[in-house]
Amino acid sequence: MRTASTTSHPAEPDFVAELARLSAARGILVAVDEVQTGFGRTGRLFACEHFGLEPGLLCLAKSIAGGFPMGALLASDRIQGPVGAHGSTFGGNPLACAVANRTLDCLLAESLPERADEEGSRWLSRLRRIDSPLIEEVRGLGLMVGIQLRERVAPHLDALADSGVLALAAGPKVLRLLPPLNIDARDLETVAEKIRWVLGVSRQPRE
Ligand SMILES: *Cc1c(COP(=O)(O)O)cnc(C)c1O
Repeated sequence: MRTASTTSHPAEPDFVAELARLSAARGILVAVDEVQTGFGRTGRLFACEHFGLEPGLLCLAKSIAGGFPMGALLASDRIQGPVGAHGSTFGGNPLACAVANRTLDCLLAESLPERADEEGSRWLSRLRRIDSPLIEEVRGLGLMVGIQLRERVAPHLDALADSGVLALAAGPKVLRLLPPLNIDARDLETVAEKIRWVLGVSRQPRE
């Protein structure tokens, strides 16, 4: 198996299908961490929906409450036993739960998973057309994108930040892009232009 940092490789459908088969055949619990991929990021409400995978446990946080601190562990009703026996000082916080409810309402009302799916696949194609020898691969799902470079990404992140685009690395050579799910197509194009510019494909970044 390839070693990779968390966001840098979408799961292979065959791998997930085999995981589901093994878990069903041997009674193994599949725990899926959707702290980053959940709530529309990959173009579905949860990334496991891309694969038809029904997790035994689903870990959620970050976008669950639109920036308000919250985490949640969901357990399938196939699971019987002491999942509910865990205690937590701030668990079940009513304010956090209210914010999460409202966040989910907005996410669904604005069809953000569908937007991430449509804008994300258009953007992926756009980024794949950047003709640079520095790019090894562009991959992603929805609005979760990684650009695998053939060299260290850090200087490019600095140049992007100077031009107004905040991005992170996923490992030493992957440019990680997680734009807001409500970003418009024009801003996505601006980011693509600025990436072309920092990679030396074009001369002038367009504003
Ligand atoms: C941030 C993150 C976590 C940790 O979430 P906490 O709410 O800080 O516990 C776990 N998994 C992934 C994939 C993350 O991105």
